[in-house]
Amino acid sequence: MSSIANLEPLVLEQLQSLSLDPARPLIISDADEVLLKFVAGLETYLQGRDMWLDLQSFALSGNIKRKNTNEIIATEEVPDLLSDFFAAATGDLEAVTGAADALAALHKRGAQIIVLTNVPHAQRHVRQECLARQGLDYPVIANQGLKGPAVTYLAQQCEGPFFFLDDIPHNIASVAKAHAPTKCIHFIADKRLAQLIDPAKDSQIQSSSWPHTHAYIENELAQLGH
Ligand SMILES: [Mg+2]
Repeated sequence: MSSIANLEPLVLEQLQSLSLDPARPLIISDADEVLLKFVAGLETYLQGRDMWLDLQSFALSGNIKRKNTNEIIATEEVPDLLSDFFAAATGDLEAVTGAADALAALHKRGAQIIVLTNVPHAQRHVRQECLARQGLDYPVIANQGLKGPAVTYLAQQCEGPFFFLDDIPHNIASVAKAHAPTKCIHFIADKRLAQLIDPAKDSQIQSSSWPHTHAYIENELAQLGH
């Protein structure tokens, strides 16, 4: 069972510093591949290291290759490569088209927005600045591991409704299991990547479009009397 007892102290500390209005709807959004073009940024980074991302499946491991030889980067080397990428390029990622407008409109009509991202803690502030610079000035929580525990904590602070967006099915499964009333949106900005995976079975919708996602959330809010 997922509970706040599973929260890392560093994550709990960030969650406790949020000021939330219990009466307002809460939108909890992932950043990479939802608010920020993670794959596009990673491709640019890999190019500079004579590597490329061969999008054969919904995974990084096994799909990062050396440019000239097409040799696959070994699975055990991928975490270090990603750490280097986050250290070098977190501040450079471009916002997903339409994300800032959709969230600004939802914020204006009363929703609270929290960015719940598995960015390394050291890059939390760079990520926050990068998002704010592109019209996405919302609190950023640098999470670790699955997202169910953090969403459980947030759901205890507010009455809802709650919306959760993520590109990774196991995060959606974790949230659906931890807090069933949360509406889960399986959002994958990069259409090439979206084609490689079925909609997460615990999600209400799969989307690659912020206008479409905005319309879904608006409609849900209206139906719930918000
Ligand atoms: Mg993501």
